[in-house]
Amino acid sequence: KPRSDCPPDVEALGRGTWTLLHSIAASYPDSPSTSQQSDLLRFVKLFSKLYPCWVCAEDFRTYIGREVPRVGSRDDFGKWLCGAHNDVNRKLGKPEFDCSRWQERWRTGWKDGRCD
Ligand code: FAD
Repeated sequence: KPRSDCPPDVEALGRGTWTLLHSIAASYPDSPSTSQQSDLLRFVKLFSKLYPCWVCAEDFRTYIGREVPRVGSRDDFGKWLCGAHNDVNRKLGKPEFDCSRWQERWRTGWKDGRCD
């Protein structure tokens, strides 16, 4: 069983990374400046080269080539990222996430109040 004080396996790395990526989407502005948009686009592209699971990174680069990252607003980027995460979910046989609810999961908490 993986231990939290040992190097991460692909699963632990993935969970931590999705938390960071969706949290970046959650804190991204509704109306980003052009420099904020270009920073985010550069970050996504560099991330796709540096992510330390090489098969994961290669598939992510393929996805970026097919579905160009949308950085025009918080909701655009959050939905794009949700689609990228769902692409991995499909590949791994995990259930797909309803992207209309990404902000409840990662920004506001669920409407039923369970995160309050
Ligand atoms: P995770 O998939 O890590 O998800 C964490 C939480 O995010 C979930 O509990 C759920 O609440 C929420 N969530 C789920 N789907 C979405 C969504 N679409 N949008 C928003 N929130 C969502 N693993 C491999 O074995 N092979 C790969 O090729 C691979 N590629 C990866 C590529 C990237 C860019 C990243 C970041 C990770 C990749 N992983 C890959 C890891 C994999 O995606 C999972 O992180 C890992 O299998 C652990 O899964 P998990 O079930 O704990 O939930």
